[in-house]
Amino acid sequence: MKLLQEAIEKRGIILNDNILKVDSFMNHQIDPQLMFEIGKEFADHYRNQEITKIVTIESSGIAPAVFTGLAMNLPVVFLKKSEPSTMIDPVYVESFSFTKNRKYTLCMESSMLEQGDKILFIDDFLANGQAFESFESLMGKCGATIAGIGIVIEKSFQKGRKTIEDKGYDIYSLARIQSMENGKINWID
Ligand code: 5GP
Repeated sequence: MKLLQEAIEKRGIILNDNILKVDSFMNHQIDPQLMFEIGKEFADHYRNQEITKIVTIESSGIAPAVFTGLAMNLPVVFLKKSEPSTMIDPVYVESFSFTKNRKYTLCMESSMLEQGDKILFIDDFLANGQAFESFESLMGKCGATIAGIGIVIEKSFQKGRKTIEDKGYDIYSLARIQSMENGKINWID
């Protein structure tokens, strides 16, 4: 997606060969116009897949997921990284944060999904695929089917995409980074 690649090149910051900072439009400040276009792009790709719900992980996946939900007229659920005392019947799964380099627990109120739900997973970044695998295991506990995976920025030099493809899922990434060496982004078109 050209508009997104331009935003990354102009407004992103390469922190090192592995980490890209996009706080200026997605991870801290949000550019609604860009998120609107991102939502339309995911919606166009997944429109005919009979998806019933969109699921993401707080907090950085929420903006692209909500705009996708708007474009597809579907509800959006975000998995929480800590359990609020208001949860009545939570389901849990362990995960590992790529950026924070530590374990955390993902949880969701079980009533958020129903048996037979067809889920589109949306996330801001794909690196090693650990967030995805935790989401996958939570969906398994709820009896929901994963119908597609929409990633805003994929770092294709890390193993997440291969893990997801090997499992046979439909993955659609809007910007695919081949490398970020020496402060320059090389794209996969
Ligand atoms: P994974 O679980 O695929 O290894 O990492 C995905 C998660 O880690 C994303 O949800 C995202 O929040 C975070 N992440 C991974 N790589 C980056 C990165 O280069 N920049 C930022 N800002 N977040 C990242």
